[in-house]
Amino acid sequence: MSTLDVAAVRADFPSLERTVHGKPMIYLDNAATTQTPRAVVDSIVGHYYGHKANVHRGVHCLSQEATAAMEAARERARAFIGAESTSEIVFTRGTTEAINLVASSLCQLFRPGDNIILTVMEHHSNIVPWQIAARRNGLEIKVVPILPDGSLDLDAYRALFDARTRLVAVAHVSNVLGTVNPVAEMAAEAHHHGAMILVDGAQAVAHTKVDVRAIGADFYAFSSHKMYGPNGIGILYGRREHLEAMPPYQGGGEMIGHVSFAGTTWADLPYKFEAGTPDFVDAAAFSTAVDFLEEKDIAAVAAHENALTAYATEEMMKIDGMRIFGTAPGKAAVISFLLGNAHHYDTGVLLDQLGVEVRTGHHCAQPLMETFGIEGTVRLSFAMYNTFAEVDAFLAALRRIAPML
Ligand code: PMP
Repeated sequence: MSTLDVAAVRADFPSLERTVHGKPMIYLDNAATTQTPRAVVDSIVGHYYGHKANVHRGVHCLSQEATAAMEAARERARAFIGAESTSEIVFTRGTTEAINLVASSLCQLFRPGDNIILTVMEHHSNIVPWQIAARRNGLEIKVVPILPDGSLDLDAYRALFDARTRLVAVAHVSNVLGTVNPVAEMAAEAHHHGAMILVDGAQAVAHTKVDVRAIGADFYAFSSHKMYGPNGIGILYGRREHLEAMPPYQGGGEMIGHVSFAGTTWADLPYKFEAGTPDFVDAAAFSTAVDFLEEKDIAAVAAHENALTAYATEEMMKIDGMRIFGTAPGKAAVISFLLGNAHHYDTGVLLDQLGVEVRTGHHCAQPLMETFGIEGTVRLSFAMYNTFAEVDAFLAALRRIAPML
């Protein structure tokens, strides 16, 4: 395995050079969103200056260039996650919209009394859409609990299935605990019971190689902005037979076969699920982000991020009153903590004053916070450009503020 040239990676991110409150910025909020490399921003600028047109409807040159960029990005996304066909790749605004699409459309095919299995560690975007769909369609929601180290209770998971279970929806990687869930094993169990599985890959794609067919995912959702790509675009992968059976999510241009007041027909996949003018500029820039990621050895990226996590964890545990939430074996590069009785918000504000950007709060995972009997945590999360020197600066800042909290 090669090692990652972190200095070379950092040179691609102009934003890492800025300061915060007069201090060098130490950006440790990568689970919320990553910084953006120059190539991705250049792609956006290049498309706005050189190829701005609406896709699909035009015969003119610019429109054809925009369409080609959009479809090349779809193919790039297909290959990135190992899908069989580009008709299984739907562009969305992000993970949240991808999950809403499935919840809103697929659940119409379920019958009152059917049930869905979620886990207690889900992000609100993998809870609330199912609650809305459950209310609308008379469905029941069951919840997999966690073990004290933050891994899923897989015995409890297996016990939740019954003849009416139609779908499991689970995070590939927890945005709070860093737990990497055994999604392939969970998919096999779901399929054994005749249920489908949706995997929320928002926290996975920037840190590990994802192969939707090896996982056995029926649906896989992720956001471009958490993997060095632009904001405002994401991907829903869905197995063709499911997408074929599902009714449209939104109506409008692009998603139709023929419109008449006597009755309208739908476009073929994936366009049936892409109503309105698509964001081809960000699709193309997303494709550049995939290039950027794939130029690296993803195993070397993960090894670097895991080494930062292990080092930070070990040093943090030497600080009096330190509590870390999520210690599952093989966890990803996320550390959630509380220091003594200090409020997470105060810790975050003081760290920010020293240039350290971390996230505080419930991280859109209130049911998980309730499980731990807390309101929130402080969370640091690493990307490929973070360094051991930055971890040292974070630790120094933490030791400095600890007596004030
Ligand atoms: N799922 C998980 C696990 C996440 O971490 C996030 C973002 N914090 C989301 C879903 C939602 O992603 P987005 O806001 O990009 O739609």
